[in-house]
Amino acid sequence: QIAETQWIWRDGAFIPWADATIHVLSHSVQFGSSAFEGVRAYSTPRGPAIFRLREHLTRLLMSCKIYRMDVPYTIDELVAASRELIVRNGVESCYLRPMVVRGYGTAGMVPTGAPIEVYLPCWPWGTYLGAGALENGVDACISSWHRVEPNTIPAMAKIAGNYLSGQLIKMEALANGYAEGIALSPSGMVSEGSGQNVFLVSGGTIVTTPLDGTILGGITRDTIMTLAREAGIPVRESHIPREMLYMADEVFFTGTAAEITPVRSIDKITIGAGKPGEVSTLMQKQYLDIVHGRVDDTHGWLTYCRD
Ligand code: PMP
Repeated sequence: QIAETQWIWRDGAFIPWADATIHVLSHSVQFGSSAFEGVRAYSTPRGPAIFRLREHLTRLLMSCKIYRMDVPYTIDELVAASRELIVRNGVESCYLRPMVVRGYGTAGMVPTGAPIEVYLPCWPWGTYLGAGALENGVDACISSWHRVEPNTIPAMAKIAGNYLSGQLIKMEALANGYAEGIALSPSGMVSEGSGQNVFLVSGGTIVTTPLDGTILGGITRDTIMTLAREAGIPVRESHIPREMLYMADEVFFTGTAAEITPVRSIDKITIGAGKPGEVSTLMQKQYLDIVHGRVDDTHGWLTYCRD
């Protein structure tokens, strides 16, 4: 259930939520060609603040670039629209889903004639991986579905069609009683969750999959790598064999929706002590302190909406 808000920004105007509709023959509906972002705004002592909005919008424009979609707005314009949207909708915290859609105009696969439409919806959205996920950790599995081969459907583009893979991973995991699935790459190494990047902690070092063409370059991933290095924790990007997850002291997911979610078991094998470990807990605390404006925003990661 989506907690509807009043307004959606569409191509420069604020329109009522119910009016943000598209035709069934829109190119994006037929062919999955809609680039999008998932961004969170948090309640802070200075009102709602959007976390790393510019980085998300940059990734959106890069997803569009890969698919030869020309977006007629600058990042500054989209930042201004996002801030105004949150103020107009009167929300203190929310999830924002900027979308660049190829609209109605052709039934063919080549999108010539289909207009580019840009939408910014936002709505309140709670914990993504279920109640207690952040505090207790979640049970995950290795998915029987692999990620796509590099140079097939680009994993670094956040585009609707990619999420056919994510849906298979997630639906299988849920059907088998797990909160989330971890997909392997075509070469059998750890890739990512259906909507999260994967980290492990072993002997005090943090390890995560490199940007190898099988994962999305997560903005939370980058945030955690930055925060960990600043905290003096060694961070390594390297290919992770599946069994290294089972052997790890800690495993956690990162993502805008999932934030920092500890993983307490994988395939019913207990990870570490079976509860959130020291490093996961520290990273989660630092992350939540920053997004909620409880500590100094030394990186300029917050975009305040009301000032
Ligand atoms: N991988 C996939 C496939 C995702 O959909 C997401 C969520 N956008 C992530 C990783 C995490 O990215 P981010 O931290 O930027 O939300």
